[in-house]
Amino acid sequence: MGAGGVVDAHCHAGPADGLTDPWNTDAPLEDYLRRARAAGIARTVVFPAFDSDYRVANARLAGIVRRHAPRLIGFAFVHCRRDKGRIGDMVAEAVREHGFRGIKVHGYEAMLTREACEAARAFRIPVLFDVVGRAEVMDMIAPQYPDVDFIVPHLGSFVDDWRAQQRVVDQIARHPNVYADTSGVRRFDYVVQAIRRAGPGKVIFGSDGPWLHPGLELHKVKLLGLPPAAEAQVLGGTIRRLLARHRGGAGRRVPPGSSYGEALA
Ligand SMILES: [Zn+2]
Repeated sequence: MGAGGVVDAHCHAGPADGLTDPWNTDAPLEDYLRRARAAGIARTVVFPAFDSDYRVANARLAGIVRRHAPRLIGFAFVHCRRDKGRIGDMVAEAVREHGFRGIKVHGYEAMLTREACEAARAFRIPVLFDVVGRAEVMDMIAPQYPDVDFIVPHLGSFVDDWRAQQRVVDQIARHPNVYADTSGVRRFDYVVQAIRRAGPGKVIFGSDGPWLHPGLELHKVKLLGLPPAAEAQVLGGTIRRLLARHRGGAGRRVPPGSSYGEALA
């Protein structure tokens, strides 16, 4: 692995305010952090679990990120319908006050909107957007925001919708600003195809911790048997490059202990 070590670009962190499913109740990090350390993962991108108020959830996450500085890199979760009209403010707060470095949007709640894309553009931060199988929307979104980087988790479908995954393989090859993450992808040959067709620079390692084991997900990438330079891109090089495009506002203050700057290391 190259300088800086392995980055897991997809993990949830902290308690949430629901009580019906694991993903809206709690994303406890203790086991994850132990497992990730044992697997050789140096840094982890984290965002909240599903929550009914992402302004509150992002602030709660900021506390977790600070507590584990500089190991965690925060992304702001926004609900594109429910947070309509305040997404710019939420992202500004997340970047300036919390030191967050990206945006997470889940299509299960609401599809990505221009408001969220424009917030990403303003701060030059990536958007991790779960298309929940509706990969076709990336063909609308990506050309409209050529200067914004989009990461499609699970190669387009957590539930193994192979049509969506095939389409995302095609999209990351065609759109310079669309990337995919490896988290939870079970059909190994789609990951192989993604690397072959789009190149190792378009596929990003992520685990979907704490619910999936980061060591197991990392092993999946190692089983690709890539040349060292290509493997280093997948395991951290590319996400570091995307995070490094970040631009703070004029006069921006960086709270001590935030992840800002650390991700560049
Ligand atoms: Zn996830």
